[in-house]
Amino acid sequence: MLTKALIGFIALVCLSLILATAWQINQSRNERIATAKISVSNIVLAAEQLAQDTIRQADNTLRDLVERVEHDGVDGDQQVRLEKLMARAVVNVDGIQGLFIYDAQGNWVANSLSQGTPLNNGDRAYFTYHRDNPDASIHIGSIVESRSTGDMVIPISRRINAADGTFAGVALATVPVAYFQAFFKRMDVDEKGVIFLALSNGDLLARRPTLTALMTTNVAKGDLFTLYLPYSDSGNALIKSVVDGVERIYAYRRVAGLPIVAAAGVSCEHVFAPWWDYAYRSMAAIALIIFALVLLGFLLYRQIQHLITAENDLNTARTELEVIAQTDSLTHLANRRCFDATLQREWGRANRNNSFIAIILLDIDWFKQYNDRYGHIQGDDCLSEVAGIIGACINRAGDLAARYGGEEFVILLPETHLAGALIIAEKVRSAIENARIAHATSPLGNVTISSGVVAINTLGKEGYKAALEEADRLLYRAKTKGRNRVEGQLPVNDSFPVNLIASRRDASSFQP
Ligand code: GH3
Ligand code: MG
Ligand code: MG
Repeated sequence: MLTKALIGFIALVCLSLILATAWQINQSRNERIATAKISVSNIVLAAEQLAQDTIRQADNTLRDLVERVEHDGVDGDQQVRLEKLMARAVVNVDGIQGLFIYDAQGNWVANSLSQGTPLNNGDRAYFTYHRDNPDASIHIGSIVESRSTGDMVIPISRRINAADGTFAGVALATVPVAYFQAFFKRMDVDEKGVIFLALSNGDLLARRPTLTALMTTNVAKGDLFTLYLPYSDSGNALIKSVVDGVERIYAYRRVAGLPIVAAAGVSCEHVFAPWWDYAYRSMAAIALIIFALVLLGFLLYRQIQHLITAENDLNTARTELEVIAQTDSLTHLANRRCFDATLQREWGRANRNNSFIAIILLDIDWFKQYNDRYGHIQGDDCLSEVAGIIGACINRAGDLAARYGGEEFVILLPETHLAGALIIAEKVRSAIENARIAHATSPLGNVTISSGVVAINTLGKEGYKAALEEADRLLYRAKTKGRNRVEGQLPVNDSFPVNLIASRRDASSFQP
């Protein structure tokens, strides 16, 4: 029981520790994720702001140019004035690298670089888009390599219409990819983190870290575009990148009013590295505590087992001692002390219940002569044998046979009338006679016993003394009447018939 309680207690403590630590570790993980989400969300907001500001300013400039071209045309003086204006705008507007005007065939008609060599951009996607779409709104194209500078640029363009509404050309502003990337560089993400701007069709516009194939990379097949953006214009996501396979915590956002998506992600490795450190340390500490607890429990368990064994040994020894203290060492019957205690106890009970209690006092006949003839050691053996026979005759629970002293024995029979007691006494006497233990110096030839039997119920608290005296007297009478006999006596006030008082020598003839 104690062991089970100990094991249960230790198991409970260990379980509580594990649960508390797991909860704490999980809590700290959630906190790290929350912090990471906030930091990437802020970066995305900043990227969105920059994209919006840059593109809006570029668009405003384009709107002015388109209006001017549509109104004044680009011939002669107009062309010179336009190019001056464009060169100034490039200086004034942050992020714009170049401004261009193309005619309906894609020929350069004016540009901010004052580049003389006329080139043709009729093959560019933004050009064909405007040529084929009357749509007058802003168009943002995928990255192209600038024909004038060789840089990677994002083309922002508007259609120029002739007076009759037919296609008359395109006004273009280029924003270098490097402009956004320089901004991204200043943002606080880890080495494996990412910040990018992409068109709504998935074409990348800028990315940190940059890619060699940036111009041709499309992320439309990534989880962000397939699983998140279709359902929400902004949010957070835990995604494995399609570009580099790194798992990150992302924030994403459609840039308001523009076909652009901004996203930023910090690598899970970066977010969770300190957390893993903390988790490992916590787990190690808990493992250590649990180990110590289990060890302590084991030591305690062993100690308890020792105590239990010692207690059991002590109990066994005590029981053995009690038995020894109550047993006669020679005959193995109860000893005098045991008999006295039992007699007093049973006497009290008989008194309370007003029931009979019988005492048979037995004494071996001519035993002094036995000793003299066979010696003391054989005398002891004889005593043991007689005791064994007496013990075998007593088999009702509650009856007690004891060695009374020397070669005298006593049998206590609670709740027994004289008739019953006489039967037992006679049974013992005849059993010993029939055992035929040779006793050459006895007139009877064998070892025999005489007994005095009393059965009493009303002699008060101390009455057992008188009962013993009476049994002794009856025993003496048996001796004087020739030995090997049973003498019984009803108490004075007993209501049993007088013929129950027995005095028989021969067991077979005795009939109570
Ligand atoms: P009876 O009772 O028939 O009158 O004759 P008895 O010879 O038995 O009488 P008594 O009581 O005088 O003698 C008892 C003898 O029992 C005395 C002693 O030598 C012997 N005796 C008592 N205790 C022991 C014992 O433990 N071992 C042996 N061997 N003899 C014992
Ligand atoms: Mg005697
Ligand atoms: Mg005797």
